[in-house]
Amino acid sequence: MALIVHKYGGTSMGSTERIRNVARRVAKWVRAGHRLVVVPSAMSGETNRLLGLAKELAPEAATAASQRELDAIAATGEQVSVGLLALALQAQGVGAVSYAGWQVPIATDASYTKARISHIDDRRVRADLAAGKVVIITGFQGIDPDGNVTTLGRGGSDTSAVAVAAAMKADECLIYTDVDGVYTTDPRIVPEARRLHSISFEEMLEMASLGSKVLQIRSVEFAGKYRVPMRVLSSFTPWDIPIEEEARSGTLITFEEDEKMEQAIVSGIAFNRDEAKITVMGVPDKPGIAYQILGPVAEANIDVDVIIQNVSHDGRTDFSFTVHRNDYVRTVELLKSSVLPATGAAQVLGDPKICKVSIVGIGMRSHVGVASKMFRTLSEEGINIQMITTSEIKTSVVIDEKYMELAVRALHKAFDLDQNGAAV
Ligand code: ADP
Ligand code: ASP
Ligand code: MG
Repeated sequence: MALIVHKYGGTSMGSTERIRNVARRVAKWVRAGHRLVVVPSAMSGETNRLLGLAKELAPEAATAASQRELDAIAATGEQVSVGLLALALQAQGVGAVSYAGWQVPIATDASYTKARISHIDDRRVRADLAAGKVVIITGFQGIDPDGNVTTLGRGGSDTSAVAVAAAMKADECLIYTDVDGVYTTDPRIVPEARRLHSISFEEMLEMASLGSKVLQIRSVEFAGKYRVPMRVLSSFTPWDIPIEEEARSGTLITFEEDEKMEQAIVSGIAFNRDEAKITVMGVPDKPGIAYQILGPVAEANIDVDVIIQNVSHDGRTDFSFTVHRNDYVRTVELLKSSVLPATGAAQVLGDPKICKVSIVGIGMRSHVGVASKMFRTLSEEGINIQMITTSEIKTSVVIDEKYMELAVRALHKAFDLDQNGAAV
């Protein structure tokens, strides 16, 4: 008898019929003798709808006071889901109880809209499980030290599920979603993408951080830190397929490198359209300049990603970096108002229509020429690379957003990832 955490995403919870199917699937696991904690997301589109309402009334909502309310609003989507799922399970004759994050409680810090889980008290959950009930806990939300409702950032239900699995030392965390596993790239962009039977934790971490939204990055971090066995699988298989078959389906996140993984040089391609590029032109090239530009940006709590400083001409240089697109306007304003006068730089230019495309693979560690193959492939397609960044197991390029799909498809093919390709 195992303790299993199931997580169901928005599409899987998208209608009462789908919730009924989730209940049937959960009931199947319970009847096979397992103890189940289930973490559902809001019904698909609901979080967007709620945040859309908020935006109508407060387009900026940038202050802590307004962000507090945003979280209170957004968290209601999951509140509805847990109640509906508990009712659906009860209707199947399965004992079930639902909890909001604050009832568990799932304790977080107070960073509204991107709170971090600090502690989960599992006593109440354990008592219910011992009484034979399925426990259903809201994804996405928690409670801060002052009793305010917080949310964990978009896609945060993955993190709730893995955190609950870690806190309870569950045997496995199954992430049910609308695709049947982790693919070499988003199958919605590249129909030739292949499902991976397994992916190393390190690669999954890179894929998630570089834009593959199939898992929220923090969920992967949690899985790595607490060694939570984790699998991504489909909630759209017939609910009554044999448990053994279901338990082997999808993509397993592995913590040990096996020989199979070593063969693939590039395991996947990630892309991210959420960034914007900013260039400070004509910066005096002297010690401390990077700090003078990026210091105020960091103080404004704006995350910076790719950074490039060009060679200087006549003692002046250009300094470019990327930020989240939501922070673009704020960053440009900040640079114009404080950094330009302080540094004597010439001007600030920006381009919000860029994207970042990355190749990821632990095989890159032991192979040379992988990045140059990437650059060659892009040049053959006539795609100009604006920025490059590399680490041991990834190479990312910043390109014009309009070439994103072309770049991803071309790279997918060039690295033999297409369904008829060679790797894995
Ligand atoms: P959920 O609502 O279940 O959390 P998400 O929409 O957050 O689902 O994540 C699943 C989606 O992630 C898929 O529908 C797919 O379009 C997208 N995706 C992006 N990259 C990948 C990838 N490498 N493998 C699989 N799916 C991916
Ligand atoms: N409902 C939240 C969102 O849409 C959390 C999640 O789905 O994981 O971002
Ligand atoms: Mg998701």
